[in-house]
Amino acid sequence: MSNYDYIIVGAGICGCSVAYELSNHTKNILLIDKNSDVALGASGAAGAFLSPLLGKPNPFKDLVTTSLKYSTQFYQKQFSSYITTCGTTRIPKNAIEQEKFESYTDYMDFGFEKDNDGYFFKIGSVVDSYGICKSMTENIQTNFNYEVKSLEYKDNLWIVNREFKTKNIILTTGYETKLLDQFYLNIRAVWGRRIDILTSTQVPYNYHKECSVSKSTKKDDKFLVSIGATHHREKKDVEDIEHNHQELLQKASGIIQLENIEIVKDYYGARASSVDYFPIVGELIDGEATIEEFPYLKNGTNVESKRFTRFQNLFILNGVGGRGFVLSPYLAKQLVSYMIDSVPIDENITVDRLFKREVRKIK
Ligand SMILES: Cc1cc2nc3c(=O)[nH]c(=O)nc-3n(C[C@H](O)[C@H](O)[C@H](O)COP(=O)(O)OP(=O)(O)OC[C@H]3O[C@@H](n4cnc5c(N)ncnc54)[C@H](O)[C@@H]3O)c2cc1C
Repeated sequence: MSNYDYIIVGAGICGCSVAYELSNHTKNILLIDKNSDVALGASGAAGAFLSPLLGKPNPFKDLVTTSLKYSTQFYQKQFSSYITTCGTTRIPKNAIEQEKFESYTDYMDFGFEKDNDGYFFKIGSVVDSYGICKSMTENIQTNFNYEVKSLEYKDNLWIVNREFKTKNIILTTGYETKLLDQFYLNIRAVWGRRIDILTSTQVPYNYHKECSVSKSTKKDDKFLVSIGATHHREKKDVEDIEHNHQELLQKASGIIQLENIEIVKDYYGARASSVDYFPIVGELIDGEATIEEFPYLKNGTNVESKRFTRFQNLFILNGVGGRGFVLSPYLAKQLVSYMIDSVPIDENITVDRLFKREVRKIK
C-alpha cells in the first residue's frame, strides 16, 4: 500500500492551492480527483474574475480584501502568464445601488476612479482557471479518474479506499459532501453557467454589473469574451441551457453593446457555500464524540474549542462560494501554517464556529 504524508481529495482551486503550499514543505503528496484532470468541477466553470467587494466595513469584506491583495500578488508573482490585471468597472444595477455605492466611497479598500459607467478599480483581474490549477500542481503526484469512497483511520494513519495510506488528509471536494458526514457541515450548492463568445466588439477591461464581462482577447478577426455567471439553487435550472444563455446575453447587454455574437463555449458548475457564507478551513471536529463528552453544548453552554474531539489530521478547505479564485491561495496558506506550525486559524473561518452554532439546534 503506497504511503503519503498528505493526500488531498479534490483538484479544484482549493485542492490545487493546498497542494502548491504544501509542496514548499514536502514532496510526498498525492492529489486525487474523480475527474480526468484538474479544474473540471466549479473551478473549470469559473470566469475567473478577481474583483473587490464594496460595502461598509465588516468581517467578510475584510476577508475578501485581504485575500484579494494576497491572491493578486501571488498569481502575479508565481503564475504571471495566467493573470490579466486589466482593471474592472463596477456598475451599479439601479438607482438604489448607485446611492449605496456612493455611500461606500469612504470605505473603498482599493484605489478607484469614477467614470460614466461606474467605479473603475485598477486591481480588477481575470485568471485562466485551468492554467493556474495546472501550473500549481505541475510537480505534484496526481491520481485522476479516481473517486474516494471510503476513509478509515487506523494506527495513526488514514486509509483511502483501502488502497493508499497517509498521515494527513485534506478534503477539498467542493459541493460534493459525501465524505463529510458531519451534521454541522451544511454545504449548499449554488449552480451557475458561464459562456465564452466571439464578437466583433472590443472590450477594454472587465465589467461587473448583474453579471461579469471580461476584457476581450483578439481571436483571428474577432474578439473572445467571457460572460458569467448565472445563479441557481436547483440543478435543473442550470440545465436549461437556452434560458441561461439568454439570461447572460441579456445581462451583458445592460453593460456593453456586443455585436455579432457567437457562443463558442459553455461551462457549468456548482459553487459551494456555507450557511454564513464564510469559508470553512481547519481540522474537522468529531461531532458525535464531542457531544457525548459535553452534552450540555446543546443547551448553549460554552466549551473551549481546544477541548473538542477532532478527527486527527483530517482537514478541510471548502465553502469558498463565488470567490474561490480570490480566497483559495490565502486560505491554503492559513491551513498549511496551521497544519505545519500550529498557527491558529481566524475564528470566522474555522469549522468550530459552525459546530458551535449547529450543536445548539439539536433537540
Ligand atoms: C459559473 C461559475 C462562475 C464562477 N465565477 C467565479 C469568478 O469569477 N471568480 C471566482 O473567484 N470564483 C468564481 N466561481 C466560484 C469558483 O469557481 C469556486 O469558488 C471554486 O471553483 C471552488 O473550488 P473548489 O476547489 O472548492 O471546488 P471544485 O472546483 O468543484 O473542485 C472540487 C473537486 O473535488 C472533486 N471530488 C469531489 N468528491 C470527490 C471524491 N469523493 N473523490 C475524488 N474527487 C472528488 C470533484 O471532482 C472536483 O473536481 C464561479 C463558479 C461558477 C460555477
